[in-house]
Amino acid sequence: MRERLADLVRAAGSVVALTGAGISVPSGIPDFRSPGTGLWERVDPMEVAHIDVFRREPARFWRFYGDRFQSLRDKRPNGAHAVLAELERRRLLDAVITQNIDGLHAAAGTRELVEVHGSIRSSSCPACGAVHPLDEVRARQAAGADGVPWCDCGEALKPDVVLFGEYLPEKALEHATALARGAGLMLCIGSSLEVYPVAQLPLLTLEGGGELAIVTQGPTPLDHRAAVKLHGDVVEELAGVLDAL
Ligand code: ZN
Repeated sequence: MRERLADLVRAAGSVVALTGAGISVPSGIPDFRSPGTGLWERVDPMEVAHIDVFRREPARFWRFYGDRFQSLRDKRPNGAHAVLAELERRRLLDAVITQNIDGLHAAAGTRELVEVHGSIRSSSCPACGAVHPLDEVRARQAAGADGVPWCDCGEALKPDVVLFGEYLPEKALEHATALARGAGLMLCIGSSLEVYPVAQLPLLTLEGGGELAIVTQGPTPLDHRAAVKLHGDVVEELAGVLDAL
């Protein structure tokens, strides 16, 4: 099946990857939707990682989110991220669309990257618009007694990720939609393809006459429409596909 996927990659005019939490699990980042393993276990994320909590109680928001920042601190891209960066270098992959906010695709060297839920790589000031990189945000968090990274203007910085209660970034969504429509092959990796917008994007590829390949442990609602489905470990499966190219 890896050879078959390699054939599809070679034959497609445009290949776009769509990645979810499963591609970052081998980097030690748990899929928060898996029961018992999640970062969110101790709190209700819907309650705390909400734009209203950020606005009303930035200290409470950052107590929760600060843990998340710390837990992602030393995480590194894995072999699956590396394969996608290598495919792009070989001009076999046009872009990566991801739900992940961990920044690992960028760290692996992917250049055409659409982060539909944003990323923790920066935080912005809702008042003056100043943008601060992650290291700076961590330094400001550590400097304040309340754990809030404060902007120079006196407002609390907000991570550049989509919080509950917020709309998805319009430009990123438009870009992802255009990529999905134009793809000859959409390579879905590590996503259960159940959450908007990633549930819709593969359907756009199919409507446009493109094909789907799925590399994910566990079932997805689109398995029956995929030309290829690989069920194994994402790092091993993608390394195998790269070898077959
Ligand atoms: Zn500011």
